[in-house]
Amino acid sequence: MLIVMKRGYMEEELQAVIREIEKVGYRPHLSRGVETTLVGAIGRGPTPELMEHFRALPGVAEVIPISKPWKLASLEVQPFPTVLEFPTGKTGGGHVMVAAGPCGVESRDQTLKAARYVKAHGAHMLRGGAFKPRTSPYAFQGLGVEGLKILAEAKRETGLPIVTEVLSPEQVELVAEHADVLQIGARNAQNFALLQAAGESGKPVLLKRGMSMTLEEFLMSAEYVLSRGNMRVILVERGIRTFEKATRFTLDVAAVPVLKSWTHLPVWIDPSHPAGKRDWVIPLALAGLAAGADGLIVETHPEPEKALSDAAQQLHEEEFAELMDKARRLVAALDKTLAAPVLG
Ligand code: PEP
Ligand code: MN
Repeated sequence: MLIVMKRGYMEEELQAVIREIEKVGYRPHLSRGVETTLVGAIGRGPTPELMEHFRALPGVAEVIPISKPWKLASLEVQPFPTVLEFPTGKTGGGHVMVAAGPCGVESRDQTLKAARYVKAHGAHMLRGGAFKPRTSPYAFQGLGVEGLKILAEAKRETGLPIVTEVLSPEQVELVAEHADVLQIGARNAQNFALLQAAGESGKPVLLKRGMSMTLEEFLMSAEYVLSRGNMRVILVERGIRTFEKATRFTLDVAAVPVLKSWTHLPVWIDPSHPAGKRDWVIPLALAGLAAGADGLIVETHPEPEKALSDAAQQLHEEEFAELMDKARRLVAALDKTLAAPVLG
């Protein structure tokens, strides 16, 4: 339920409401707006008697049920966009960020080269999987801990924060030591134990949509992270399975405006995995931004033809530069900002 405080309420009244929420076993979530202050009371479906109880507390104007099954992610509980800040830039609320880099960390040389040029072309974050979830157990599985160390070196050199995938709850602690953002991939998007462990790590989480997940299910997965007290979640539309075979997945561009009408969380587009082919990555990225995305996560490799995973979809450096140039112009036309990264 959502508790709306009266205009001019007293701070002691607000604190008493929060204490009462905790006392009845719910989790409070405070949202202080300019006009109104809201306190979400998150827990299992409140009874009419409980709502009545809160309605009678001093300073309370209204108590309303939260209509959606996702609570902390909802625009009802937080009616303004979440803006996530990184040392290099911001995402959400009109700020657009770009994370770029190879699909997988393959070597020190490959990763450092990619890190240097994505930085030079204006990316705000370096991506690259050290642990790769592969369809075949015989395919390249990533360099593991060695890959995390390479990412850490790339961060030390370039100043770019790192986003990298974590595959299991047991790996969270290790990956969180090196990563600035934990990526939870499409194949793990409903691994609830992993979502909870990532929530508890306190690190921002970049959550990809599962390839057969509805948008409601996607937000319920985000809710698993949020409900562990971690409000820093980025939602990424990365394509879903349909009958179409020309592309690797079907990019659901409509997911962007729909999600943004349901949640305050930043919504990004991954144009690489739905395209499956590098020629189609730039148009899909631009379509996502035009639909309102707050960021992009894009694959690019110094020698894509030699890549050990997702070779066909990784951009060459020049193509990545072209994407950045076009994205900047499009974002400006949308009256939003794709700022140059702030780097030391
Ligand atoms: C990736 O980002 O390389 C990846 C495996 O993504 P997804 O989980 O979206 O397939
Ligand atoms: Mn990939």
